Formats: sequence, structure tokens, C-alpha cells
Amino acid sequence: MNLSKLAMSLGQSATLKLNELANNLKAEGKPVIHLGGGEPEEKIPRGALEESGKMLDAGFVRYTPTSGTAALKKEIAAYTELHYGVKPGPKNIVAASGAKQAIYNFLVAVVDPGDEVIFPAPYWVSYPEMVKLAYGVPVAVKPREGELLAKASDIEARITSRTKAILLNSPNNPSGQVYPEDFIRRMVEICEARGVYLLMDDIYNRLVFDGLKAPSAFTFSKKPLNESHVVSINGVSKTFSMTGYRIGWSVANEALTQAMVKVQAQVSSCPSALSQTAAAGALREGNGFVETLRGGLEKKRDTMVAELSKLKKVKLHRPQGTFYSFPDFSAYEKDSTKLSNLLLDKAMVVAVPGVEFGLEGHLRLSYCGAEKDIIEGVGRIRKALD
Ligand code: PMP
Ligand code: GLU
Repeated sequence: MNLSKLAMSLGQSATLKLNELANNLKAEGKPVIHLGGGEPEEKIPRGALEESGKMLDAGFVRYTPTSGTAALKKEIAAYTELHYGVKPGPKNIVAASGAKQAIYNFLVAVVDPGDEVIFPAPYWVSYPEMVKLAYGVPVAVKPREGELLAKASDIEARITSRTKAILLNSPNNPSGQVYPEDFIRRMVEICEARGVYLLMDDIYNRLVFDGLKAPSAFTFSKKPLNESHVVSINGVSKTFSMTGYRIGWSVANEALTQAMVKVQAQVSSCPSALSQTAAAGALREGNGFVETLRGGLEKKRDTMVAELSKLKKVKLHRPQGTFYSFPDFSAYEKDSTKLSNLLLDKAMVVAVPGVEFGLEGHLRLSYCGAEKDIIEGVGRIRKALD
């Protein structure tokens, strides 16, 4: 077929593949329960709809500046100042087609062929493949036995002269765990001392429970933003339930931002003008929507934990944020792909194998869907395993 070595080396996105599978089975009328999903079921904020509706009426939808419209960047700056303790200017921001593209822009901007990018496991499925897309070498650092959060010292021990960046996602997809303040402070210190970028994937950062707050790495940086090695990635997909709009962004020092703008200009020109307007509307509408979503997810988290506790041999770290749980099923089956296939076959339940996130023996079970599906889905898993 004459495909590139790079293309042939890439794995499929397990999350997107299972999402499609679940939707296809539903469309065929199969009684499938999708606990593999990665998007809230809530309708998007009204303000977002109205803003993009007005634009459609005017019929004027064109290319925008590569790094995003001034209106969206103004909202991103205000949002970042309010929640992340740093005040970016327009030259620190790139609006992208999803947080995914923002991460890609970053990796292409900092990684030379053979450079290493470190991230703790369990990690989001796309990190290793995205590092490979930038011709980098992914370096996953596992937590210690029975834990879900890697130690800062174990991550530091993997830094070499080829390390360009560390990627952290807190709260974490898939574990739902929040990295504690001490850990984030230490990572900022290490990265600033070693000249390594610290990319904070803050996409779930406002979806935390039990009165907790996921700390912002910027607050621990000793340097002004334009000299800082801290980069924040964010977006409207999760917090505003706007996955299909495909708007994310990065906040970084100016020099890095300009390099990321060049990458984006050559790859996608700019994010969709309609979606940028909608995202600005969502950010303007703000907190009310996020708080309702967060509160609803916290209740669903409680339901998921209560249902999973009925499976006596399952070990679970109570999720502190996101809409994912990452129970350890290894007492039933160590091979998570085998288990995921078995659950689909025997119980019509979709769950993502832990091995896709770099930690075997676990399954990722989402609680972003309907409450009744969580109860029915975990109930079916229990029966299948019994
Ligand atoms: N980071 C993490 C950890 C995610 O789970 C997702 C979900 N798709 C993304 C980034 C990308 O989000 P999006 O491209 O939809 O903004
Ligand atoms: N981030 C979500 C997930 O982990 C959506 C799918 C994806 O982009 O991977 O399921």
C-alpha cells in the first residue's frame, strides 16, 4: 500500500473506536449500554447556541486569524485569569480545533526527532500516539503497585538530556484522580530547573468533586508567563459539553505560542469561525452551566461508586473528578482487552480496556451518561462475572 512507517506504527484511538461501535450497535437497535463514552450528555449552554445562530443568520463565516478571533481570545484570557491564576495576553493564546490539536501543535513545536516526552500512567490513550506523530519517543511512568498516581521522584528519574516535555492531566482521564498540590509544585520546580516544558492538560480541571480544587501549575511558577515552561491546554469539550464544536486552546509563553501558530497555520489555517463564536458565547455565559454539570457528575460518580462496591473483588480508587472511574478487575481477569470483549459479548456493555491507558487489569467505566445506564450497566457486568 506504500504507507509511511509512521502511519503504520500508529495505534487506533481505542476510545473513538469504541464510541463508534457503541453508537452503531445502538443504531441497529441492540440493547447496548455505553460505559466507554467520553462526553457529557447535557445540552450545550444556551448562550453558545445563540451566538453561533446570529452568525449563521448574518451568513458571514470566513477564515479567522490563525490563533483565533480577538473575541474568543478575550474570553479565554478572562477565563484563564479567573481560574488559573495567570493573565495571558493575546500573544499567549492559540485557539485550536479541540484540545487535541492544541496538544499536537505543542508537540510539533517542541519535539525534535528522537526527543522524549514523559507522562505518568494511566494516561489518556492519545498521548503516546501524538508524541509519535511528532517523531518523538513516548516515555510512560507507571505508578507503584496498587496506586494510580505516579510519584514525582519516579518521573524525575526518567528525565534525560533528550526530555523535552512532561504531560500531566489532572484530574486524570482515565483514573479520575486529582494530582495533589505538593506534586504539582514539585513538577513545576523540576521542569523549571531542568528547562523541560510542563504541559498541563486542564481539560477536566473544573470538573472536580467533594469541594476539592485541582491546582493550577501556573500558581507555582516562579517565572513570568513569557519565561515560563508551564503550558496549559484547555477547551469547551468537557466543561461546556461542546465536544462536536472542536474548540480547545493553549496558554503559553509568547515564543512557544508563535511556533504553535506557525504549525497550526500550515495544518488547519484556523479553527471553525462558527465554533469559535459559540465557544466565546459559552465562556461568557460561564459558571452557572459548569456548576450544574459538575454537581450532576458528582451525583453520578456516587452512583458509580455505590454500584461498583457491589462487586466484592473489584478494587476502586474513588474518582475525585472527570467522569471516569478506573476500577481494577484483575481478580476476575488480568487481560483487560479480553474482559472488555467478554462484557460486550455477554452483557452488551461497552468498557474501555485499561491497557489502552497503560495500566493492565483495569477497565475505564464512564459515568457521563444516564444514571439508569450506570446502574443497569454495572448490574450487567456483575451478572456476567458471576
Ligand atoms: N485531553 C484529554 C485528557 C481528553 O480526555 C480529551 C478528550 N477528547 C482531550 C484532551 C481532547 O479534547 P478535545 O479535543 O475534544 O478538546
Ligand atoms: N477524550 C475522550 C475519551 O477519552 C473522547 C474520545 C477521545 O478523543 O479520545 O474517551
